[in-house]
Amino acid sequence: MPDSWLDPVPDAPFGLATLPYGVFSTGADPAPRTGVAVGEYVLDLGAAARALDAPFADTVARPNLDALLAAGRPVWEAVRAALTDWLTDPARAAAVRPHLVERSSARLHLPFTVADYVDFYASEHHATNVGRIFRPEQEPLTPNWKHLPIGYHGRAGTVVVSGTDIVRPVGQRRPPGAPAPLFGPSTRLDIEAEVGFVVGTGTRMGERVGADSLADHVFGVFLLNDWSARDLQAWEYVPLGPFLGKSFATSVSPWVVPLAALEAARVAPPAQDPEPLPYLRTGQPWGLDLRLEVRVNGHVVSRPPFAQMYWTAAQQLAHMTVNGASLRTGDVYASGTVSGPEPDQRGCLLELTWGGKQPLRLSDGTERAFLEDGDEVAITATAPGADGALVHFGEVTGRVLPARD
Ligand code: MN
Repeated sequence: MPDSWLDPVPDAPFGLATLPYGVFSTGADPAPRTGVAVGEYVLDLGAAARALDAPFADTVARPNLDALLAAGRPVWEAVRAALTDWLTDPARAAAVRPHLVERSSARLHLPFTVADYVDFYASEHHATNVGRIFRPEQEPLTPNWKHLPIGYHGRAGTVVVSGTDIVRPVGQRRPPGAPAPLFGPSTRLDIEAEVGFVVGTGTRMGERVGADSLADHVFGVFLLNDWSARDLQAWEYVPLGPFLGKSFATSVSPWVVPLAALEAARVAPPAQDPEPLPYLRTGQPWGLDLRLEVRVNGHVVSRPPFAQMYWTAAQQLAHMTVNGASLRTGDVYASGTVSGPEPDQRGCLLELTWGGKQPLRLSDGTERAFLEDGDEVAITATAPGADGALVHFGEVTGRVLPARD
């Protein structure tokens, strides 16, 4: 990879191997606009594209990424190639430099309009642990688990950008042994550390997307926290799955890492046995070596390995469309909680504290079974990038506020 005339600090977040897209504003210019994170800066993408007379300027000089997402893979490739050129060719520096904004002064917004939102359940370790905790008398994995990527439709309208406060949800719960449900604030508020994918190129109803076609449809990848009220969830989820225990909020990281930045992170997923049906088979494996970290109030509680996920994003996309359901620009689907085989690789408190029975001790000496009001959760990730560089995902954070009366 060529050097940038920006001369970023080696291994600092957002080098040329990443170049993620987002939407930002500043105090001086409060209008949200598209940007690219590079080193300590955000490049104002639309302004730079106009200054350099780029053919895609109209597509990116917008208040969000929607038009770029819809433009399709050839345009995505052209924009990324242009960015690399602008940031490496010293002859471009004079034209590009005026459009760099200090990243610390940028306010970050939800980067695109979320269309539909689907959440999967793709970690065998997570599904096995949750089965043991929720249904101790039964086989932990349901009979369908290794035949199809299980998912549910979530609530697109409550997907929020990192940094948005999360009000503790209220609802019905029935504690073990209680004769009737109680109503009130959730007492078992949890996180789920996940990876999200956003669809750029849509499809028509009746079409299917093959398991080899991920890169033609998915624009990019980001981090996602699927906030979960375990007590509401446990009472409501039978037989139709998660509902109000999940729909109150889902947080996403503000920087969308293009799929093209993750070529060096591709790995074979774990062996699948039994072999899935033909529509879920692919010769182009899309396991991804993303290494996540989860912090509660600054204390690292888990390091979930995304490479361990049983079902890949390519298989999830094929499954989501095999019935002819269409895709729309801005559709988000998430991996499901990322949990590895080790106890310190579990991606939610439900597993980390084994249903609340084994509280975690944080670095300030306090214990947590589930989240307290005021707690702040941050999820970060890196992945191997081109030429030994590191791809950075930034972070998704959120603080818990008390329930409202
Ligand atoms: Mn989830």
